[in-house]
Amino acid sequence: MTALPDGTLIPVLGQGTWEIGDSLRTGDAEQAALSRGLDLGLSLIDTAELYGNGASERLVGEVIQGRRDEVFLVSKVRPENAGEMSMMLACERSLERLGVDRLDLYLLHWESRHPMDEIIAGFEELVDEGLIARWGVSNLDIRAMTIMEGIDGAEHCQTNQVLYHLGSRGVEFDLLPWMQERTMPLMAYSPLGRGELLEHPALIAVADRHGATPAQIALAALMLREGVVLIPKASTIAHVEDNAAALEIQLDGEDLEALDRAFPPPTSEQPLDII
Ligand code: NAP
Repeated sequence: MTALPDGTLIPVLGQGTWEIGDSLRTGDAEQAALSRGLDLGLSLIDTAELYGNGASERLVGEVIQGRRDEVFLVSKVRPENAGEMSMMLACERSLERLGVDRLDLYLLHWESRHPMDEIIAGFEELVDEGLIARWGVSNLDIRAMTIMEGIDGAEHCQTNQVLYHLGSRGVEFDLLPWMQERTMPLMAYSPLGRGELLEHPALIAVADRHGATPAQIALAALMLREGVVLIPKASTIAHVEDNAAALEIQLDGEDLEALDRAFPPPTSEQPLDII
């Protein structure tokens, strides 16, 4: 578990849902996978109004029916919906699709043409109205985070969800330390590099040493860092079980050196990677 700035504890390993719910054909298997994740303690579920145009939120709603208290539920507002007039309506639509009264965390999906002070005021209003418990951002680089810090209410921002995996470690140079100084967890999206990382020989070699899978090593390596929360997406029970077992893996110095050789840490500032 790790603590948000407001003191709420959240699991360091959760579940993503991008592309989950897109097809009726695979919906049952995806629901079963998310449910299994909840059984295994992967109780943070990340979704967004964007995913499948609401289909992902609807599928998550089915999964958490009767289990609302077990879940830390995260959704995201599309930037164009983050304006004064539109944010509450967007949030209400998300709540309806999810079949819940309140989100645990609501994120700005990426930077918006709406000014940040208006967006923060909108989030604060949603908190006051009880539609969301707290809010955060996504895809903001260190420059945008620093600018935001000067705005009234920004002290209530709970996280920044950004792309972070072994093949994309730029955040380790500046954004991650910046967030660690503020005890604000970094929520790492695409922590498996969308699955593309998993063929890498160095990951396979470390995995073989542990009798583990490359996915487990990719997750375990990131989980070593303080204040990092991972939200891998898995659409099968087998993948969910595999990912949950990453919590048991202890990497040693030799493993970490091998991973650093294959996936060098950043030595200078890099633009934030975004999907
Ligand atoms: P990801 O989690 O890095 O990778 C997902 C891919 O890995 C899928 O193809 C999945 O296959 C596969 N996989 C999962 N577990 C595996 C295992 N144990 N062994 C082998 N393969 C495995 O990619 P992602 O979906 O892009 O990122 C995760 C979540 O982050 C998203 O679902 C979404 O919630 C969030 N996200 C947020 C943003 C943003 O802008 N804020 C952007 C991208 C993603 P199966 O599906 O077949 O299991």
